[in-house]
Amino acid sequence: MAKKFPDPKEDINKYYKITNKILGQGYFAVVKVGKDLKTDEEVAVKFVKKSLVEREETLANEIDILGSINHPNVVGLRAIFDTEEILYIVMDLMKGGELYEEIVKRKSFSERDASVIMAQLISALAYLHEKGIVHRDLKLENLLLVKEGDPDLQLKLADFGLSKLYSGKSLQTACGTPFYVAPDILSGEGYGTEVDMWAAGVLLYVLLSGRLPFAADSDTELFKLIMVGDLVWKSPQFDTVSAEAKDLISKLIVVDPTQRFTAKEALKHPFIVTKASGSRGLNTSFVDKLQELKAMSNLKVAQTKEAKEKKKQ
Ligand code: ADP
Ligand code: MG
Repeated sequence: MAKKFPDPKEDINKYYKITNKILGQGYFAVVKVGKDLKTDEEVAVKFVKKSLVEREETLANEIDILGSINHPNVVGLRAIFDTEEILYIVMDLMKGGELYEEIVKRKSFSERDASVIMAQLISALAYLHEKGIVHRDLKLENLLLVKEGDPDLQLKLADFGLSKLYSGKSLQTACGTPFYVAPDILSGEGYGTEVDMWAAGVLLYVLLSGRLPFAADSDTELFKLIMVGDLVWKSPQFDTVSAEAKDLISKLIVVDPTQRFTAKEALKHPFIVTKASGSRGLNTSFVDKLQELKAMSNLKVAQTKEAKEKKKQ
């Protein structure tokens, strides 16, 4: 059953009180803590500046689709309010924040942890893909934890379905973090669900090593590497990684989208099913590498934003 959202043309202040507490900031939006006036529950409210996004389709249809989404590993949507300048997206509050922060706090992260995370992510993707929804912006920053300091790492995928709200052929390439872009996007072949599976492969590579499978100084160079899609197990980080983990990555990072694992196939892979890869900690430089990577990604977002603002003036 689809949840009944309030009419998007209504005033958000009638339903929610918005606080000044900022939860996070992405390329398109700022996210703040809000409070449901009826239930007193805390929520997360995302403010999307509409001048930053282009949209072709009518919002009403998309809101219906988003309202029908209900999965334990997908951030729950509660309402969408559409004003002239800002789109407000009200969601469940993920108290654990970004997965990345939790990993850095823990200082260690095992292959088993990576498997637990991937199992949840792929289950979310299988669900969304079955509904014909492509995430299109899958990356580490969009994986949020339900609870703080949760040993079980209960995870939800955020930022999904945004492709439904923001038509943006420029989404990946313009949003500042093109490291997860699939070759089929770059070659302009379109936006099938396969692009999420490529990104999932990049994510697993990152979760096991703190390194990116494809990185270069310029986007042009980066895109060349992605189009070729040669996988290199960077050393020393990958020296201790299991064969099953590498096998799954090599079935996701596949240039030909028709040969790439689907979410359903990935769910049956031993790395996901057995979760038995042991508690052996990953290479100690992992957390350092991950922090470097996050800093790089933040810098890219800032640079892209600046460039875009300059262009507008
Ligand atoms: P963008 O589209 O700009 O990337 P996101 O939806 O990814 O925006 O939100 C930006 C950041 O805000 C996230 O990386 C996260 O830190 C925080 N955030 C987003 N949604 C929630 C939520 N439901 N609960 C808690 N924090 C959130
Ligand atoms: Mg995001």
